[in-house]
This record gives sequence, C-alpha cells and structure tokens, in this order.
Amino acid sequence: MIHFNHVTKIYEDNKALALEDVSFHVEKGEFVFLVGHSGAGKSSIIRMLLCEETPTEGEVIVNGHNIGALSRKEIPFLRREIGVVFQDFRLLPSRTVYENVAFAMRIVGASTRQMRRRIPELLNMVGLSRKSKAYPNQLSGGEQQRVSMARALANNPSILIADEPTGNLDREKAAEIMAILEDINNRGTTILMATHAEKLVNEMHKRVITLDMGHLVSDEKEGGYTVGV
Ligand code: ADP
Repeated sequence: MIHFNHVTKIYEDNKALALEDVSFHVEKGEFVFLVGHSGAGKSSIIRMLLCEETPTEGEVIVNGHNIGALSRKEIPFLRREIGVVFQDFRLLPSRTVYENVAFAMRIVGASTRQMRRRIPELLNMVGLSRKSKAYPNQLSGGEQQRVSMARALANNPSILIADEPTGNLDREKAAEIMAILEDINNRGTTILMATHAEKLVNEMHKRVITLDMGHLVSDEKEGGYTVGV
C-alpha cells in the first residue's frame, strides 16, 4: 500500500537532508502515527504521498505507483486514492457544509445523483447531518474539522492522511476527531496521522513511527509518544 524504500530527500535550497535513508511499509487498513519534532521530516513524507515532492534517492510506492516516476497525467488519478485533512481545515468559507463536500466530488466528475446519495452518508458518519446548510463560520473548530473529514472521504480514498488534525482543537474536540478517525479506520481506510499530541498517541495504542532530524528512529506496533525533549 505505502512503501518507503531507502528514501532520502534533499531540497535544492537546503543542503541539509530532510530525510535520510527512511524505510517503512504500511499495509492496507493500518493506523499509523507519524511523530517527531518540527523539522523532523513528517511533512516531507506527507508531501511525497500527495505527489507534491519526489524523493531525491530511494523509492516511494503508493498503491503500486512509483511517486518518482509518475507522468503528469497519472498524478490526479493517484491523488484521488488519498484523502487529506489539515490542521487549519481549509474549507471554502462562502460554501455550506454540503457544498464543501460536493465540491470535492464535482472535481472528479460525480453526478448530482451520486452526490445526493453520498453526502448525507458522509455527514452522518461525522455527526453533522443537521448542519448541512451551515457555513463554516457558523461551526465550532471541531465541527469544521469533521466537515473536512467528510470532504476528504467523499471520493472513497483508500488512504487518509491527517496532518496535525487536532492541532487547533481542545482535548474534548480532539477526542471526538480521534473517535471518528478510528471509525473510518475500522471501515477499512488506511490512516497516516502526523501529530504532536502526545496524550492522544499514548491513548490510542496504534503503530507509531518516530522521526528525528530526517531519520526514522523507531517504528513500534503498539507504540507510544517517545519524542525526546
Ligand atoms: P516536519 O514536518 O517534521 O516539521 P519537514 O518535512 O517540514 O518536517 O522538514 C524537514 C526538513 O526539511 C527541515 O529541515 C526543513 O527546514 C526542510 N524543508 C522542508 N520543506 C522544505 C522546502 N520546501 N525547501 C527547503 N527545505 C525544506
């Protein structure tokens, strides 16, 4: 599903290595936390999965596709396999909850009929059935993040990437987001979540990959948050 084979990443304008000889594999249906200090290399990994960067050395294979060898035409098709949620939600402020999710489906050519069937299902899954006509600024941060999760899942991706999804939320709201992520994972979606939320990581007992200055320093099956101070 996701294979990083001896991946090194050097940005042209930055002589330091962002990643050095990083290898890990994620199977379908896994839930993996990616932890490490700022600058450890988490975003570089995420950007490669989203086809926004290519490895300088080594291979990144996602669902059988080699990220370093994709043609421009192939990128949008692979991107559909991957949903993503960000710390700052990134919703369209002038669109309702329903329209924000519909927007993601329209991009891939879904019909109005498909949207009418799928969007209520998605909003139900994230507990927002009653808010479909609300605008983002009428929602709490936790609700906005739940909209962004519905949007990320709209096209049935096999992988969901969550980049610090609870970073702007209080503990209670963060716990709600984690419960939904766990539900999504139980339905078969592979999840990779980058985070600094030590307590959440320790409570979930999931696989934890720890990065430090571009190196993968641990990869534990039911791990905890072990980023040094
Ligand atoms: P994290 O997400 O864990 O904070 P990053 O992957 O963003 O880590 O950064 C890893 C290293 O790569 C850092 O030293 C950072 O300064 C550098 N880096 C990240 N993105 C770029 C970029 N676009 N250009 C140059 N250097 C970058």
